[in-house]
Amino acid sequence: AAKETGEPYRSWSPALDERAGEHARLGAELQAALHAGHFQVVYQPIVAVPGGRTVAVEALVRWQHPQRGTISPAMFIPVAERNGLIVDLGAWVLRTACEQLVGWRAELGPDAPERVSVNVSARQLARPQFPATVAEILATTGLPPQCLTVEVTETAVFGGGQAVTALHELRALGVSIALDDFGTGHSSLGLLHTVPVDVLKVDKSFVDNITEAGRHAVIAQALIQVSEGLGLKAVAEGVETAEQADVLYGLGYRLLQGYHFGRPTATPEFSRAIYPLGA
Ligand code: C2E
Ligand code: CA
Ligand code: CA
Ligand code: CA
Repeated sequence: AAKETGEPYRSWSPALDERAGEHARLGAELQAALHAGHFQVVYQPIVAVPGGRTVAVEALVRWQHPQRGTISPAMFIPVAERNGLIVDLGAWVLRTACEQLVGWRAELGPDAPERVSVNVSARQLARPQFPATVAEILATTGLPPQCLTVEVTETAVFGGGQAVTALHELRALGVSIALDDFGTGHSSLGLLHTVPVDVLKVDKSFVDNITEAGRHAVIAQALIQVSEGLGLKAVAEGVETAEQADVLYGLGYRLLQGYHFGRPTATPEFSRAIYPLGA
């Protein structure tokens, strides 16, 4: 099974040494795996409430390792960022996701999701060629630019510079921009002055415990108010229960994502599943 992240930091131990060795091996294997076709893109629904229609999907990469099974992106994306393979891997994910949505649109017509949202790392965004790569992928797959959202983290765009230039160029193409894990960075609100943004993805940490009395719901409410005030869309991430969905709906959230609505899978169902809210 994939190793989970979030392990507490440990000082040196044989296990940590082993892990450093494992990282080096992973790095060496990534390039070969890309050529061997061992990566897969899975898709998680982003649903509109009420109703539960899948209006978008987030593309998430998986490594299907022939011996070690499915490896989590939390394990190999940082390695790919460090050795630079994220540029080729990221372009492959983008192309695969765009092709997939073109396929669903042909197959399902109006039942297909309207958009696909693709994670883009700082290293990709920092390359001046990135917007041209996106334009080329849209042109060759035939996906309308309005159907693509790129998800960037606050840290990727924090220093301004080329990353922000790239976002303006992507926007000019017709692609929309989502700020991922919103609220967890150092300058969340300040960034909204300087960075072109269409969607705030409110981090799971603000959704966890939202049903308990206390500060969680207050922050989630403040974030939906900011997004409404600025004319942005907000997606609440990591919604695991019907109760959380109810509270978020009550706060004004209309786009929800999380295990309650569907786990990431290679073959998501866009059935007309109805998720009633509130009783
Ligand atoms: P992320 O972009 O914040 O993606 C959301 C993560 O939360 C995904 O983990 C998803 O499977 C998980 N998730 C969704 N709903 C729930 C829920 O209800 N509960 C819980 N506990 N988790 C939920 P995943 O797929 O393991 O991806 C982890 C991270 O790896 C992503 O976080 C993203 O930062 C990165 N990543 C994944 N695919 C790509 C990619 O193609 N390119 C880049 N640059 N990064 C990627
Ligand atoms: Ca994301
Ligand atoms: Ca996220
Ligand atoms: Ca995250």
